[in-house]
Amino acid sequence: MIRTRIAPSPTGYLHLGTARTALFNYLWAKKNQGKFILRIEDTDRQRSKKEFENDILSGLKWLGLKWDEGPDIGGSFKPYRQSERKDIYRKYLQKLLDEGKAFFCYHTVEEIQQEREGQKLAGQPQIHLCSHKSSPPANPTSAGIIRFNNPGGIIEFNDLIRGKVQFDTSLLGDFALAKGLNEPLYNFSVVIDDWLMEIDYIIRGEDHLSNTPKQILIQQALEISQPNYAHIPLIFSSDKSKLSKRHGAVSILEYRQLGYLPQAIVNFLALLGWHSQEEKEIFNLEELIQEFSLERIQKSGAIFNLEKLDYLNHFYIQKLSEQEYWSYCRPYLESVYPVRFNQNKDFFRRASLLFRERIKKFSEIGGLISFLVELPDYSAELLIWKKSSKEEAKKILSLVIEELKRLDDFSGKEVRILLEKIAQQYNVGMVFWPIRVALSGQKSSPPPEEIAAVLGKEESIRRMEWGVEKLNNIG
Ligand code: GLU
Repeated sequence: MIRTRIAPSPTGYLHLGTARTALFNYLWAKKNQGKFILRIEDTDRQRSKKEFENDILSGLKWLGLKWDEGPDIGGSFKPYRQSERKDIYRKYLQKLLDEGKAFFCYHTVEEIQQEREGQKLAGQPQIHLCSHKSSPPANPTSAGIIRFNNPGGIIEFNDLIRGKVQFDTSLLGDFALAKGLNEPLYNFSVVIDDWLMEIDYIIRGEDHLSNTPKQILIQQALEISQPNYAHIPLIFSSDKSKLSKRHGAVSILEYRQLGYLPQAIVNFLALLGWHSQEEKEIFNLEELIQEFSLERIQKSGAIFNLEKLDYLNHFYIQKLSEQEYWSYCRPYLESVYPVRFNQNKDFFRRASLLFRERIKKFSEIGGLISFLVELPDYSAELLIWKKSSKEEAKKILSLVIEELKRLDDFSGKEVRILLEKIAQQYNVGMVFWPIRVALSGQKSSPPPEEIAAVLGKEESIRRMEWGVEKLNNIG
């Protein structure tokens, strides 16, 4: 059975990159009827924050990436936390120390820094080769760091995405494993956990490629098995620069706040560096599980494309039922129009439905319907269609007002039928243009009869009369 894991450090929010790594691990496990593990790597007590951990857990749950294992808390699983596993790491640190495969190094921070600077000047790799390995100083002045007694040599492994990878491990020096027996560092604890949790596929960002030789050296020292590695390409913004906050290095939950659907995000993440056999673009989680394969992950960087995300979100919005659509719009409208919303929820519901085919993300809804809540000010000239005149615009508006006054039902097709009838006598542009502008104050909007249906008879006529008045006021 295949076991994969996502091992985020709670030193930041769950951003797109980590969410995508989680997704790929989830898909690979599920595709092979395996298990997906969540492990919070919180050994860095200073930088780890509960706030970040909560964000990571909520983000994964929101995306539907449920982990399959962990300490049981009444039917659901807590994540594994490295801070709760210190005894385990201590045991294996001690083992390496006892076997002479690790040692306490007592060089001070300043000494190490000096060594680095010297190496930098000499154009050498900046590593620490410890002189304390065999004989620690008599009166150490610094607390001991546990370092790996690096035997050096070439390490080669087969990365499932990048192929054969080779490293000269003598370039790594005697790298640190822990700041004493109680403070293991990432490269050490990750190896112990991946082994004890029986993780057999490590799918992670390419930024970790340089850690892999260190981890393999530790595995070899402990004489434990080596998992499969798959280093996935990094995500870049469309101008090939590093992904910035603006482009998506923010919490995945900010996307929720902006009104993106989790199914759109999942679909979007899947396409960041992976493609299906037939280059299909639309996938739900189930379909992704079926289709996913490590072979079709690309080597080159993945490009973050916000238009694509908007496109997918728009696509999934169209799939929602009317009720679901409304339940997503509701909280935005409630917060933008707190008083009006409570007075007339039904108006807001009908107004938001007008934009169902256009909206890209739900946070837009307040702005999109604002002209329905309140007619924006617009210039009288806007009422005049380009092939028409002020007099004609006025005539049409007055005519439509008279006809509409006689009509009682604004909810169906009647307003449209009436406008079309008048347009036949005159001209489509000449009729529809001023009516649309008078009703919306804008040059593009949903069809006028749909606006009229939401506004109702009284308000629609009031807006058109206001249009006539505006025209009367121009010189
Ligand atoms: N804690 C590491 C991180 O957040 C995990 C790296 C790994 O997957 O090994 O980047």
